[in-house]
Amino acid sequence: MVHLKTAEEIECIRASAKILGQAHGEVARMIKPGVKTKTLDQRAEEFIRDQGGIPSFLKYNGFPASLCISVNDTVVHGIPGDYELKNGDIVSIDCGVQYKGYHSDAAYTYPLEGVSADVLDLLDRTYKSLHLGIAQAVAGNRIGDIGYTIQSFVEEFGYGVVRELVGHGVGKHLHEDPEVPNYGKRGKGPKLVAGMVIAIEPMINRGTKNVVQEKDGWTIRTADRKPSAHFEHTVAIFEDRTEILTTHEDIEKNYPYKWRNKSR
Ligand code: MG
Ligand code: MG
Repeated sequence: MVHLKTAEEIECIRASAKILGQAHGEVARMIKPGVKTKTLDQRAEEFIRDQGGIPSFLKYNGFPASLCISVNDTVVHGIPGDYELKNGDIVSIDCGVQYKGYHSDAAYTYPLEGVSADVLDLLDRTYKSLHLGIAQAVAGNRIGDIGYTIQSFVEEFGYGVVRELVGHGVGKHLHEDPEVPNYGKRGKGPKLVAGMVIAIEPMINRGTKNVVQEKDGWTIRTADRKPSAHFEHTVAIFEDRTEILTTHEDIEKNYPYKWRNKSR
């Protein structure tokens, strides 16, 4: 069942998203060769708690960390640990914050220096697909319009759209109805109405759409071991507009490598 949010509830999610954006910004400063992924996770948890928030992912269905950190061929749900980032890696940082009972959810994939033009293209186009999807997330459209738009854009480049994992409603729970797939048909699926708050999160693979789960029970990686990108925002739908509640601004301000190329 889709729970429509009141203006007060959306205000709470906005407050949560503000902390989340800043937490992402704290992590962005630290992303460089040699940093252990668990060090990023520790900083995120410390920052979120200092602001009075709770890391949404920690202990969610038993997940052991505050960030999902997914490197290279890992699509999502990577567990932070002793791995040290190195030049040529891409790393997706996914984080959720609960504040005063409401969650927000956002993700960003960083390239370190030395990533091939080919993989930078994957990142740029996945980022663009997120914003094309958000542009479809307006009252009166349907969920399928979002997925159709993301899928048709990225498949032009021969990329694979992950089927097993999808976006979702966000609110008192991290994952609520409706599901928001990154694939679909125009005009199909639940209607978007004012008061919906949804996370849109394309997970786009350089090669096959197929994924496998590692033995740790969490890590999802591409079946062909090619890289995968993931960007996510939490958005609120109003009668006459859609607002992106989360932000990548702190990330893009604090991460020294200005990699995004709007002409790509
Ligand atoms: Mg997320
Ligand atoms: Mg999500």
